[in-house]
Amino acid sequence: MRSEIPAGARRILEALTSAGYEAYLVGGCVRDLLRGVEPHDWDICTSARPEETEKCFAGQRIVETGLKHGTVTVLEEGEPYEITTYRTEGPYSDSRRPDYVEFVSSLEADLARRDLTMNAIAMGLEGDLRDPFGGEDDIGSGLIRCVGEPTHRFQEDGLRVMRALRFAAVFGYGIEARTAQAIHENCHMLERVAAERIDAELCRLLVGQHVGDVLRQYPDVLCQFWPQLGPLIGLEQNNPWHCWGGWEHTIHTVEAAPADLILRLAMLLHDIGKPACRSTDEDGIDHFYGHPAVSAKLADEMLRALRFDNRTREQVVTLVERHDVQIPLRSQAVRKWLSRLGPETFFQLLEVKRADNMGQARELVRDRLAELDALQAKAEEILAQGQCFSLKDLAVNGRDVIAAGIAPGPEVGRTLNALLERVVCGEAENQREVLLGLLRK
Ligand code: ATP
Ligand code: MG
Repeated sequence: MRSEIPAGARRILEALTSAGYEAYLVGGCVRDLLRGVEPHDWDICTSARPEETEKCFAGQRIVETGLKHGTVTVLEEGEPYEITTYRTEGPYSDSRRPDYVEFVSSLEADLARRDLTMNAIAMGLEGDLRDPFGGEDDIGSGLIRCVGEPTHRFQEDGLRVMRALRFAAVFGYGIEARTAQAIHENCHMLERVAAERIDAELCRLLVGQHVGDVLRQYPDVLCQFWPQLGPLIGLEQNNPWHCWGGWEHTIHTVEAAPADLILRLAMLLHDIGKPACRSTDEDGIDHFYGHPAVSAKLADEMLRALRFDNRTREQVVTLVERHDVQIPLRSQAVRKWLSRLGPETFFQLLEVKRADNMGQARELVRDRLAELDALQAKAEEILAQGQCFSLKDLAVNGRDVIAAGIAPGPEVGRTLNALLERVVCGEAENQREVLLGLLRK
């Protein structure tokens, strides 16, 4: 293990220990080393008080990141290392950060405040472990387990519920039985947690390879911040296209989508409007007419509630709204949709449709997937040929329109779009002379 510790982190550990303090790597980096995964940052904990830590690195670049919380950041060859004094935490009354921290002298006390056994292991310079809660064994058996009494730990900070699920989704670990039970019983604590903290964990959870298992086992947790999921989770669909209920279908589509946040969110929310649109015909078959528009509206509301950025929200809402459109396999239709959505969203929509199909009745899937592949090939061909589907490809521009006698202003854009529409539909050639002729008319 020693050789895997970067030189910068080693120098910091050496500087602190040679000044007579204890110093260890701790948290995510130790966990990842034990899992055989390259850590993405290196956190250090020490018995030195913040001002003592600063003295050890006098003359070096230091950032007083969170002095109140005991953290000093030292730059070693441009790499930041966070050095935190052993501490315990007070309660999280605003659920963003602890109300106060208290410096303590023992490493064990510092490890005891941490959330999960696998995150509560310290490693010394020689690779020696301090692991009072059995984190190494839990990593070995792929188990997520709270440090201490699970109920108490989730009540201290509801975000830990989401952290546990995020690690389960990303690592594929199981959640130990008492920890799992406490998650179900205490997930209402998420009510008190700031939306942006929940959002950050949710985003990582959704792109996890094992997201499906988590969605299947913990829908109650998601309903804490997205109660709109409730009706979908209970939805049966008696329809020849569907071999699963609403939630199981949704989970299959999330699993089938590439590990991309926009696509995974779009799949999670694509059918959220179905329960409100359900009707049953005289043969007992269920229909969900108009559900994409209702889903899009709900998705918009849900993404706003968790304070997603505008771009993510708008992209997801567009995909949800369009997930059911039929795009005929004709150049004209493909150009029209490329033009309407832009290439990036068009190709994302094909991914959404692929994933949606994989979540439907088996025997029908293959033909539909072949159709989507053909659409993809056609769109790529149109792009490669430089065929016109957006204003920037149009053979005339705003100056031509003004030269043809249209007053500068919004009418110029409207005229250009009308020309584009005719080119995309195949009614006019994308040639300058042809379009100038149309303009003169
Ligand atoms: P990663 O950085 O890979 O997401 P991490 O475990 O390092 O995982 P951080 O948020 O960087 O996550 O936190 C560093 C350490 O701080 C954790 O390993 C854990 O020991 C502790 N920790 C973080 N958040 C909490 C929390 N909400 N409650 C208790 N301990 C926490
Ligand atoms: Mg970390």
